[in-house]
Amino acid sequence: MDCTKCDREAVMHAAYSGAHLCEHHLFESVERRVRRRIREDDMLPDDATPEDPETWVVGLSGGKDSVVLLDILEETFAEDPRVELVALTIHEGIEGYRDESLDACEELVADRDVRHEVVTYADEFDVEMDDVAEEDPLDMAPCAYCGVFRRDLLARYAEEYGADKLLTGHNLDDEAETALMNIFEGNVEQVAKHFDASLGPFDERTPKEDMIPRAKPLRDVPEKEVALYAQLRELPVHMEECPHASEAFRGEIQDLLLELEENHPGTRHSIMAGYEELAGLAADEYGDENEDVGECEECGAPTTRDRCRKCALVEAVDAV
Ligand code: SF4
Repeated sequence: MDCTKCDREAVMHAAYSGAHLCEHHLFESVERRVRRRIREDDMLPDDATPEDPETWVVGLSGGKDSVVLLDILEETFAEDPRVELVALTIHEGIEGYRDESLDACEELVADRDVRHEVVTYADEFDVEMDDVAEEDPLDMAPCAYCGVFRRDLLARYAEEYGADKLLTGHNLDDEAETALMNIFEGNVEQVAKHFDASLGPFDERTPKEDMIPRAKPLRDVPEKEVALYAQLRELPVHMEECPHASEAFRGEIQDLLLELEENHPGTRHSIMAGYEELAGLAADEYGDENEDVGECEECGAPTTRDRCRKCALVEAVDAV
Protein backbone atom coordinates (compact mmCIF):
# COMPACT_ATOMS: atom_id res chain seq x y z
CA MET A 1 0.00 0.00 0.00
CA ASP A 2 1.32 3.46 -0.91
CA CYS A 3 1.50 6.40 1.47
CA THR A 4 -1.57 8.64 1.30
CA LYS A 5 0.68 11.69 0.92
CA CYS A 6 3.34 10.42 -1.52
CA ASP A 7 4.20 7.34 -3.58
CA ARG A 8 6.50 5.73 -1.01
CA GLU A 9 5.49 2.49 0.66
CA ALA A 10 3.32 2.92 3.77
CA VAL A 11 4.66 1.61 7.10
CA MET A 12 1.43 2.15 9.02
CA HIS A 13 -2.28 2.63 8.72
CA ALA A 14 -4.05 5.03 11.08
CA ALA A 15 -7.60 3.64 11.07
CA TYR A 16 -8.91 6.69 12.97
CA SER A 17 -7.96 9.03 10.10
CA GLY A 18 -7.90 6.57 7.22
CA ALA A 19 -4.31 7.62 6.37
CA HIS A 20 -1.57 5.24 5.25
CA LEU A 21 1.80 6.80 6.05
CA CYS A 22 5.34 6.11 4.87
CA GLU A 23 8.25 6.45 7.29
CA HIS A 24 8.91 10.07 6.29
CA HIS A 25 5.29 11.15 6.73
CA LEU A 26 4.91 9.22 10.00
CA PHE A 27 7.88 11.18 11.41
CA GLU A 28 6.41 14.43 10.11
CA SER A 29 2.97 13.63 11.51
CA VAL A 30 4.20 12.71 15.02
CA GLU A 31 6.48 15.75 15.24
CA ARG A 32 3.76 18.06 13.97
CA ARG A 33 1.32 16.89 16.64
CA VAL A 34 3.88 17.44 19.42
CA ARG A 35 4.69 20.95 18.16
CA ARG A 36 1.02 21.78 17.71
CA ARG A 37 0.30 20.68 21.28
CA ILE A 38 3.11 22.91 22.56
CA ARG A 39 1.53 25.81 20.66
CA GLU A 40 -2.10 25.08 21.57
CA ASP A 41 -1.31 24.65 25.27
CA ASP A 42 0.65 27.94 25.17
CA MET A 43 3.64 26.18 26.67
CA LEU A 44 6.13 28.75 25.43
CA PRO A 45 5.22 32.21 26.76
CA ASP A 46 5.83 35.30 24.63
CA ASP A 47 8.27 36.72 27.18
CA ALA A 48 10.69 33.77 26.93
CA THR A 49 13.94 35.12 25.44
CA PRO A 50 17.46 33.79 24.89
CA GLU A 51 18.51 35.96 27.86
CA ASP A 52 15.66 34.67 30.04
CA PRO A 53 14.80 31.22 28.63
CA GLU A 54 12.19 28.77 29.84
CA THR A 55 13.60 25.72 31.61
CA TRP A 56 11.72 22.53 30.82
CA VAL A 57 12.53 19.50 32.95
CA VAL A 58 11.60 16.31 31.09
CA GLY A 59 11.04 13.04 32.96
CA LEU A 60 13.22 10.52 31.10
CA SER A 61 12.67 6.85 32.00
CA GLY A 62 14.30 5.25 28.95
CA GLY A 63 10.94 3.85 27.80
CA LYS A 64 9.69 4.68 24.30
CA ASP A 65 7.43 7.58 25.29
CA SER A 66 9.92 9.70 27.20
CA VAL A 67 12.70 8.89 24.71
CA VAL A 68 10.57 10.00 21.73
CA LEU A 69 9.43 13.12 23.58
CA LEU A 70 12.97 14.19 24.46
CA ASP A 71 14.20 13.41 20.95
CA ILE A 72 11.52 15.61 19.35
CA LEU A 73 11.95 18.42 21.88
CA GLU A 74 15.70 18.44 21.41
CA GLU A 75 15.29 18.53 17.64
CA THR A 76 12.67 21.28 17.90
CA PHE A 77 14.58 23.56 20.25
CA ALA A 78 18.19 22.76 19.28
CA GLU A 79 18.42 26.09 17.47
CA ASP A 80 16.00 27.96 19.74
CA PRO A 81 17.70 29.43 22.83
CA ARG A 82 14.33 30.35 24.39
CA VAL A 83 14.05 26.83 25.86
CA GLU A 84 16.59 24.90 27.94
CA LEU A 85 15.93 21.19 28.40
CA VAL A 86 16.94 19.17 31.46
CA ALA A 87 16.32 15.41 31.34
CA LEU A 88 15.60 13.90 34.75
CA THR A 89 15.77 10.15 35.35
CA ILE A 90 14.47 8.59 38.55
CA HIS A 91 16.19 5.35 39.61
CA GLU A 92 13.79 3.33 41.75
CA GLY A 93 16.12 0.46 42.63
CA ILE A 94 14.58 -2.31 40.51
CA GLU A 95 17.11 -4.97 39.57
CA GLY A 96 17.25 -6.06 35.95
CA TYR A 97 15.09 -3.12 34.90
CA ARG A 98 16.18 0.38 35.80
CA ASP A 99 19.94 -0.02 35.20
CA GLU A 100 19.11 -1.18 31.67
CA SER A 101 16.70 1.68 31.02
CA LEU A 102 19.27 4.11 32.42
CA ASP A 103 21.69 2.82 29.76
CA ALA A 104 19.09 3.78 27.12
CA CYS A 105 18.77 7.28 28.64
CA GLU A 106 22.53 7.77 28.66
CA GLU A 107 22.84 6.58 25.07
CA LEU A 108 20.10 9.03 24.03
CA VAL A 109 21.62 12.09 25.67
CA ALA A 110 25.22 11.18 24.77
CA ASP A 111 25.12 12.87 21.37
CA ARG A 112 22.51 15.50 22.19
CA ASP A 113 22.98 18.84 23.86
CA VAL A 114 20.81 18.06 26.88
CA ARG A 115 21.73 18.19 30.54
CA HIS A 116 20.91 14.81 32.17
CA GLU A 117 20.39 14.28 35.90
CA VAL A 118 19.74 11.03 37.77
CA VAL A 119 18.26 10.81 41.26
CA THR A 120 17.68 7.60 43.18
CA TYR A 121 15.21 6.38 45.79
CA ALA A 122 18.22 4.91 47.61
CA ASP A 123 19.89 8.32 48.04
CA GLU A 124 16.70 10.27 48.65
CA PHE A 125 14.61 7.92 50.80
CA ASP A 126 17.04 5.15 51.69
CA VAL A 127 14.71 2.65 50.01
CA GLU A 128 14.85 0.39 46.93
CA MET A 129 11.62 -0.57 45.17
CA ASP A 130 12.62 -4.26 45.12
CA ASP A 131 12.62 -4.25 48.95
CA VAL A 132 9.42 -2.21 49.15
CA ALA A 133 7.64 -4.67 46.83
CA GLU A 134 8.82 -7.61 48.89
CA GLU A 135 8.08 -6.18 52.34
CA ASP A 136 4.96 -4.22 51.37
CA PRO A 137 4.25 -2.89 54.90
CA LEU A 138 0.89 -1.31 53.97
CA ASP A 139 -0.36 -4.19 51.84
CA MET A 140 -0.62 -2.06 48.70
CA ALA A 141 0.44 -2.55 45.08
CA PRO A 142 4.13 -1.58 44.54
CA CYS A 143 3.09 1.15 42.10
CA ALA A 144 1.13 2.88 44.89
CA TYR A 145 4.40 3.54 46.78
CA CYS A 146 6.49 4.06 43.68
CA GLY A 147 4.15 6.62 42.10
CA VAL A 148 4.18 8.76 45.25
CA PHE A 149 7.99 8.60 45.55
CA ARG A 150 8.46 9.40 41.87
CA ARG A 151 6.05 12.34 41.85
CA ASP A 152 7.81 13.77 44.90
CA LEU A 153 11.25 13.56 43.29
CA LEU A 154 10.12 14.90 39.93
CA ALA A 155 8.50 17.90 41.61
CA ARG A 156 11.36 18.52 44.04
CA TYR A 157 14.15 18.26 41.49
CA ALA A 158 12.23 20.17 38.83
CA GLU A 159 12.10 22.99 41.36
CA GLU A 160 15.79 22.60 42.20
CA TYR A 161 16.69 22.90 38.51
CA GLY A 162 14.57 26.03 38.17
CA ALA A 163 11.92 24.43 35.95
CA ASP A 164 9.18 26.57 34.45
CA LYS A 165 7.43 23.38 33.24
CA LEU A 166 7.67 19.71 34.10
CA LEU A 167 7.09 17.52 31.05
CA THR A 168 6.24 13.84 30.91
CA GLY A 169 5.85 11.47 27.97
CA HIS A 170 2.23 10.37 28.39
CA ASN A 171 0.73 9.36 25.05
CA LEU A 172 -2.88 9.38 23.82
CA ASP A 173 -3.58 5.87 25.12
CA ASP A 174 -2.26 6.74 28.60
CA GLU A 175 -4.42 9.84 28.77
CA ALA A 176 -7.58 8.14 27.47
CA GLU A 177 -7.07 5.32 30.03
CA THR A 178 -6.70 7.83 32.87
CA ALA A 179 -9.80 9.68 31.66
CA LEU A 180 -11.89 6.50 31.66
CA MET A 181 -10.53 5.39 35.03
CA ASN A 182 -11.47 8.72 36.60
CA ILE A 183 -14.94 8.58 35.11
CA PHE A 184 -15.56 4.92 36.02
CA GLU A 185 -14.44 5.66 39.57
CA GLY A 186 -16.89 8.60 39.65
CA ASN A 187 -14.14 10.82 40.97
CA VAL A 188 -14.98 14.35 39.80
CA GLU A 189 -12.29 15.90 41.99
CA GLN A 190 -9.71 13.70 40.33
CA VAL A 191 -11.05 14.73 36.90
CA ALA A 192 -10.57 18.38 37.91
CA LYS A 193 -7.02 17.67 39.10
CA HIS A 194 -6.25 15.91 35.83
CA PHE A 195 -7.26 19.05 33.93
CA ASP A 196 -5.26 21.39 36.12
CA ALA A 197 -2.24 19.11 36.08
CA SER A 198 -1.89 18.60 32.36
CA LEU A 199 -4.84 19.30 30.06
CA GLY A 200 -5.82 22.41 28.17
CA PRO A 201 -4.03 25.74 27.66
CA PHE A 202 -2.08 26.99 30.67
CA ASP A 203 -4.15 30.14 31.08
CA GLU A 204 -7.29 28.02 31.60
CA ARG A 205 -5.84 25.94 34.40
CA THR A 206 -5.75 26.62 38.12
CA PRO A 207 -2.65 24.69 39.21
CA LYS A 208 -1.82 24.43 42.89
CA GLU A 209 0.18 27.24 44.28
CA ASP A 210 3.91 26.45 44.37
CA MET A 211 3.38 23.62 41.91
CA ILE A 212 5.39 23.69 38.71
CA PRO A 213 2.97 23.43 35.76
CA ARG A 214 2.91 20.01 34.10
CA ALA A 215 2.71 19.36 30.37
CA LYS A 216 2.29 16.29 28.19
CA PRO A 217 3.16 17.30 24.63
CA LEU A 218 2.88 13.70 23.36
CA ARG A 219 -0.72 13.34 24.47
CA ASP A 220 -2.20 13.47 20.96
CA VAL A 221 -0.09 10.61 19.62
CA PRO A 222 -1.30 6.99 19.94
CA GLU A 223 1.03 4.57 21.68
CA LYS A 224 1.60 2.40 18.58
CA GLU A 225 2.77 5.41 16.58
CA VAL A 226 5.17 6.41 19.35
CA ALA A 227 6.58 2.86 19.36
CA LEU A 228 6.93 2.80 15.56
CA TYR A 229 8.55 6.25 15.56
CA ALA A 230 11.13 5.07 18.11
CA GLN A 231 11.81 1.88 16.18
CA LEU A 232 12.17 3.50 12.75
CA ARG A 233 14.30 6.35 14.13
CA GLU A 234 16.42 3.64 15.84
CA LEU A 235 16.25 5.47 19.14
CA PRO A 236 17.70 3.73 22.20
CA VAL A 237 14.62 2.45 24.01
CA HIS A 238 14.25 0.03 26.89
CA MET A 239 11.25 -2.14 26.08
CA GLU A 240 11.02 -4.42 29.15
CA GLU A 241 8.10 -4.03 31.51
CA CYS A 242 8.79 -3.34 35.18
CA PRO A 243 8.62 -6.62 37.15
CA HIS A 244 6.47 -4.89 39.79
CA ALA A 245 3.90 -3.42 37.36
CA SER A 246 0.58 -4.04 39.04
CA GLU A 247 -2.13 -1.61 38.02
CA ALA A 248 -4.85 -4.23 37.48
CA PHE A 249 -7.65 -1.73 36.85
CA ARG A 250 -5.62 0.14 34.25
CA GLY A 251 -4.93 -3.19 32.53
CA GLU A 252 -8.67 -3.85 32.23
CA ILE A 253 -9.23 -0.34 30.85
CA GLN A 254 -6.39 -0.86 28.36
CA ASP A 255 -8.05 -4.03 27.04
CA LEU A 256 -11.40 -2.27 26.83
CA LEU A 257 -9.94 0.69 24.94
CA LEU A 258 -8.08 -1.54 22.49
CA GLU A 259 -11.29 -3.35 21.65
CA LEU A 260 -13.28 -0.11 21.34
CA GLU A 261 -10.61 1.46 19.12
CA GLU A 262 -10.54 -1.62 16.91
CA ASN A 263 -14.32 -1.64 16.47
CA HIS A 264 -14.77 2.15 16.44
CA PRO A 265 -11.59 3.88 15.20
CA GLY A 266 -11.18 7.33 16.72
CA THR A 267 -12.61 6.38 20.13
CA ARG A 268 -9.51 7.57 22.02
CA HIS A 269 -9.58 10.95 20.29
CA SER A 270 -13.28 11.47 20.96
CA ILE A 271 -12.89 10.39 24.61
CA MET A 272 -10.18 13.00 25.10
CA ALA A 273 -12.02 15.76 23.23
CA GLY A 274 -15.15 15.36 25.37
CA TYR A 275 -13.24 14.65 28.57
CA GLU A 276 -11.07 17.74 28.27
CA GLU A 277 -14.16 19.91 28.08
CA LEU A 278 -15.82 18.14 31.02
CA ALA A 279 -12.59 18.24 33.02
CA GLY A 280 -12.34 22.00 32.43
CA LEU A 281 -15.84 22.45 33.87
CA ALA A 282 -14.95 20.22 36.83
CA ALA A 283 -11.79 22.28 37.41
CA ASP A 284 -13.88 25.49 37.50
CA GLU A 285 -16.10 23.88 40.11
CA TYR A 286 -13.28 22.50 42.28
CA GLY A 287 -10.71 25.27 41.76
CA ASP A 288 -11.10 26.60 45.31
CA GLU A 289 -9.75 23.32 46.74
CA ASN A 290 -6.34 24.86 46.15
CA GLU A 291 -6.81 27.14 49.14
CA ASP A 292 -6.29 24.19 51.49
CA VAL A 293 -2.81 23.38 50.24
CA GLY A 294 -0.14 23.88 52.88
CA GLU A 295 3.35 22.55 53.56
CA CYS A 296 4.31 19.14 54.92
CA GLU A 297 5.58 19.64 58.46
CA GLU A 298 8.46 17.24 57.78
CA CYS A 299 9.72 17.95 54.27
CA GLY A 300 7.93 21.16 53.25
CA ALA A 301 6.32 19.63 50.17
CA PRO A 302 2.89 20.99 49.16
CA THR A 303 0.14 18.91 50.79
CA THR A 304 -3.43 19.17 52.02
CA ARG A 305 -2.51 17.24 55.23
CA ASP A 306 -0.09 18.00 58.08
CA ARG A 307 2.31 15.48 56.69
CA CYS A 308 2.61 14.54 53.02
CA ARG A 309 1.88 11.07 51.69
CA LYS A 310 5.52 10.51 50.72
CA CYS A 311 6.76 11.09 54.30
CA ALA A 312 4.09 8.70 55.63
CA LEU A 313 5.10 6.00 53.15
CA VAL A 314 8.83 6.41 53.80
CA GLU A 315 8.15 6.02 57.53
CA ALA A 316 6.07 2.88 56.93
CA VAL A 317 8.80 1.35 54.78
CA ASP A 318 11.54 2.32 57.28
CA ALA A 319 9.61 0.70 60.14
CA VAL A 320 9.83 -2.78 58.60
FE1 SF4 B 1 7.28 1.88 39.86
FE2 SF4 B 1 5.06 0.51 39.24
FE3 SF4 B 1 6.35 1.92 37.37
FE4 SF4 B 1 7.43 -0.32 38.37
S1 SF4 B 1 5.54 -0.17 37.17
S2 SF4 B 1 8.50 1.64 38.00
S3 SF4 B 1 6.77 -0.21 40.51
S4 SF4 B 1 5.30 2.74 39.19
